Amino acid sequence: MSLLSVAGVTKRFGGVVANREVSFDVAPGELVGVIGPNGAGKSTLFDLVTGFQRPDAGRVSLDGRDVTGLRPDRISHLGVARTFQKLKPFAGMTVLENVMVGAFHATADVAAARATAREVLEAVGLGDRAEMHARGLSTGQRKRLELARALATRPRLLLLDEVTGGVDQASVPGLIRLVRDLHATGLALLVIEHNMRVIMEISQRVVALQLGQVIADGPPAEIVRDRRVIDAYLGETWKA
Ligand code: ADP
Ligand code: MG
Repeated sequence: MSLLSVAGVTKRFGGVVANREVSFDVAPGELVGVIGPNGAGKSTLFDLVTGFQRPDAGRVSLDGRDVTGLRPDRISHLGVARTFQKLKPFAGMTVLENVMVGAFHATADVAAARATAREVLEAVGLGDRAEMHARGLSTGQRKRLELARALATRPRLLLLDEVTGGVDQASVPGLIRLVRDLHATGLALLVIEHNMRVIMEISQRVVALQLGQVIADGPPAEIVRDRRVIDAYLGETWKA
């Protein structure tokens, strides 16, 4: 059975159709890439899956259970976590405290939350930054912090919105390795990513969006040869 099933989901903002009858599935432990030009509806799709927005039509299911329109904290309790395209760490808090905020989704016990936070900080390579203020982190480290905060909720499905976006080139390979390591632990991932080399390298399947619609869904090797994907997206990126 699918872990996540998105079926015929539509979301409008005024006259803009951000998602139009979007359907796709994610199996347990699968890593699915999401590509498409700016404004294609990728982040909106994440909002609909994680409860930050409610679809106008269609259905989102987890393990076959309808979760459409549930609030973000309910979705989180069902094992879905996300990072945001625009980073929002609590700048005045330490790195550890930031991650404990995530851990409190899974436990009310302070000691347990602290232990979880330390464990996931180690896992993302920020173990030695735990007592630092979040504002002192580099962009690459902030991405790791976001990941740690999401992981602290103990998800089965993790949604990453442009995990390598805006980070310096030197930090990209380490972030990719981290995503692969997380996937290797059995975590299912849905990953928005603009770097096609990265998408090809990590994805088992790729969903391509354009103007809110799914224009292709398949293995990466097929997606890069898909005429519609090339016309809508790849031609442009490759030229650039
Ligand atoms: P992507 O992440 O693929 O760049 P988005 O999902 O952010 O695309 O946006 C898809 C479309 O929906 C865009 O036209 C965007 O301007 C619009 N949109 C997204 N969120 C909102 C919102 N909260 N209010 C109004 N329009 C929005
Ligand atoms: Mg986006």
